[in-house]
Amino acid sequence: MFGQRIKIFSLLGFEVRVDLSWIVLAVLVTWSLARGVFPDYFENLPERTYWFMGAVGALGLFLSIIFHELSHSLIARKFGISMKGITLFIFGGVAEMTEEAPDAKAEFWMAIVGPASSLLLGAMFFAVWRYGESAGWPVPAVGVLFYLAWINVALAVFNLIPAFPLDGGRLLRAVLWGFRKNLQWATRITSRLGSGFGILLIALGLYSIIQGQFIGGIWWFLIGMFVRSAAQTSYQQLLTRKALEGEMVSRFMVTNPVTVPPATSLQQLVDHYIYRHHFKMYPIVEDGRLTGCVTLRQLKEVPHDQWNRVTVREVARPCSPAMNIPPDTDALQALSIMNRTGSSRLMVVVGDRLVGIIALKDLLQFLSLKLSLEETE
Ligand SMILES: [Zn+2]
Repeated sequence: MFGQRIKIFSLLGFEVRVDLSWIVLAVLVTWSLARGVFPDYFENLPERTYWFMGAVGALGLFLSIIFHELSHSLIARKFGISMKGITLFIFGGVAEMTEEAPDAKAEFWMAIVGPASSLLLGAMFFAVWRYGESAGWPVPAVGVLFYLAWINVALAVFNLIPAFPLDGGRLLRAVLWGFRKNLQWATRITSRLGSGFGILLIALGLYSIIQGQFIGGIWWFLIGMFVRSAAQTSYQQLLTRKALEGEMVSRFMVTNPVTVPPATSLQQLVDHYIYRHHFKMYPIVEDGRLTGCVTLRQLKEVPHDQWNRVTVREVARPCSPAMNIPPDTDALQALSIMNRTGSSRLMVVVGDRLVGIIALKDLLQFLSLKLSLEETE
């Protein structure tokens, strides 16, 4: 269900997308408004009217969330951060950033504008509601306006809770970051608060379920799980980024990689290379020059009984340029290339010479050593 996104429209240059999981939220909101909230507050209306009010209320919530996320995106763009767009999913919406805020000040304004715009929208709905009520507007219209005023204020308040990655947590992180000039420390504190808040929501959810409020309870439980894992991953991502950024791959690549001479037979390749080193891909080097690559797939295309006669040179293909990187490549960039291409080993080349191989395993080992050395601060 997650990950299936549908683009619905573009607004001010931002793509607004809906994850399919959002449908669950839309149905749940419509249902709880039509069957719970509206009949409780506005009695004696026809059943159909409640459903209509529920649907309009859910649509209003949807637009309110877009408004909130749009404000984040606009301020982010003002600070020169490129945005991937706005995605609505089961727990609300996210303005997806491609990079982090450049400094504490940018983070502060980006975080505070969300709750501020929700509060503003809530105040506007509140004013229209007051006016509508004194002007004698129909009850369903007044009811939906009141709900939208209330839900926007609730959105602002919930988001102001100082638990990273909620807006309030980002706000606190910006303040701590500006105060101590240490992003990592600020992220550690606020993501711990985020994690703790997640646990609190999970407990609240379980308590509600025991009390018999099943849907509400499951809801809080799931939101708690989400907040907790988001808090933990964002801290880990920051650590990874900090540890790998600015580190050149030449620092931890293997400098005498296993290479295959082109005259090797396929049988020798299997016996002396594949069974010994367990790699899926081998660079072919002749007189110090990288001439191609041979992979398990090319080997499998040749029938077994010909493996003694066919040489590696005959089946080799040119190496994929996406997997060749220069030695001064940033380690973080190498990691993202591995992510994108799905290959856990990249060849480090200078011109047509193979100078090393960088493996995901080595990157992660370097990362964990660096992190454990830095933990003592
Ligand atoms: Zn927000």
